[in-house]
Amino acid sequence: VWDNCLLFIKDNIQEQAYKTWFEPIKAVELSDNALYIQVPSKFFYEWLEEHYVKLLKVALTKELGQGAKLLYKIKMENKLGNKLPFTEQLPSNNHAAVKPQEVDAPIQNKNPELKNPFVIPGIRNVKIESQLNSNYNFDNFLEGESNRLARSAGMAVANKPGGTSFNPLLFFGGVGLGKTHLAHAIGVEIKEKHPEKTVLYISAEVFTQQYTDSVKKNTRNDFIHFYQLIDVLIIDDVQFLSGKAGTQDVFFHIFNYLHQNGKQVILTSDKAPVDMQDIEQRLLSRFKWGLSAEIQQPDYETRVAILKNILFRDGVEMPEEIVEYVAKNIKTNIRELEGAIISLIAQSSFNRREVTLELAKQVVEKFVKNVKREVSIDYIQKVVSDYFQLDMETLQSKTRKRDVVQARQLAMFFAKKFTKSSLATIGSQIGDRDHATVLHACKTVDNLVATDKQFKKYVEDIHKKLSL
Ligand code: ADP
Ligand code: MG
Repeated sequence: VWDNCLLFIKDNIQEQAYKTWFEPIKAVELSDNALYIQVPSKFFYEWLEEHYVKLLKVALTKELGQGAKLLYKIKMENKLGNKLPFTEQLPSNNHAAVKPQEVDAPIQNKNPELKNPFVIPGIRNVKIESQLNSNYNFDNFLEGESNRLARSAGMAVANKPGGTSFNPLLFFGGVGLGKTHLAHAIGVEIKEKHPEKTVLYISAEVFTQQYTDSVKKNTRNDFIHFYQLIDVLIIDDVQFLSGKAGTQDVFFHIFNYLHQNGKQVILTSDKAPVDMQDIEQRLLSRFKWGLSAEIQQPDYETRVAILKNILFRDGVEMPEEIVEYVAKNIKTNIRELEGAIISLIAQSSFNRREVTLELAKQVVEKFVKNVKREVSIDYIQKVVSDYFQLDMETLQSKTRKRDVVQARQLAMFFAKKFTKSSLATIGSQIGDRDHATVLHACKTVDNLVATDKQFKKYVEDIHKKLSL
């Protein structure tokens, strides 16, 4: 099985990359639909997961069918380089559907050693693992209008951690636009320029978990003490702290300590500080002390550059018009941009065919569709009334004519399904009804779908239109 996978992989990446990353792998076990492979180090595992997870997935699915699993065994070595008599086993995230938001750091979370970066807090000279991913660096963080400010502020901080007015340095912006990448890049750069500095990257989620654990185990002081040892603290996705008063409180103290002592704090968030909710005011005001730099959606040129960079990295050639097509059609998320091009690379070789515009269209369509757009209640009303050839006023009116009532109920049903609005909001926007009416509408639709074929078809048609 593995040999066949290798053949497939070999066809799809540069020879050098293949030699470096795939030749050293040993297949060790196959049970059911799970293949175990042994890799020389944890770094190896992370690299494979980082760069080749999709390729591995395609190769493996081809051999073992849907649901195929890949598991890694890692040869462990202790600090002296001696082989330890056991291996560590880690899962690949390749069998999980790669959801945009999850690609971030599943490896760290699943990795027992990395989970807890502090070993024995309180003891001097504890070795703090920085948790940095060196694949996220400045060299492969392409610059564009959308990230120029953020990037150059990041550079400045990397040159003089704690020594600029950008403290804290906060990046904010939408999903998949490069916040995590840039945060790592700064850490990696600092480690290179100032190896004596203690850097720690941690997601706000893991930070919260550690804190909660420390409270349970009565080691809160150790927790705080540990964080006070750090020179450069990078906390990713601080929006996660919202509503978590205890964690915010402890973070507030850590932050103050670090800041007063000239240490650098780097934060990322999906929102600007002014828009953050359920975060204490005193913490928000700290966030605003330094620099908040937005990372925006990349412009077309940057998107093309990012795609070309991936092709170059993987040693794949692709016609210019394909690259342009992908860049034109995927605009809002770099992770999806990457996903689409990698999927194209994989599919083209999978089917052993040239990448045609036709194939590119299929792939892009899939990616664009997967992006959940928030559909508005207004839009739903419009689609539903168009479908039944009513106008929106009639839909919202008080008339009890059967077909209008049905259309109205369908609008409510889809508003509930497709938006995050409350029943009350939905009711008030669809002809000033109350929440009970909406609830009733949803039940009626459910019933009718189960009993009335014609009605079921309506629902499916409208569903399709709304999902386009
Ligand atoms: P976020 O944390 O904002 O959700 P990430 O940092 O995880 O986004 O970025 C998503 C993906 O896009 C990553 O694979 C990252 O390497 C890539 N990426 C983002 N910005 C850039 C850029 N400017 N140049 C190259 N790759 C980028
Ligand atoms: Mg991120």
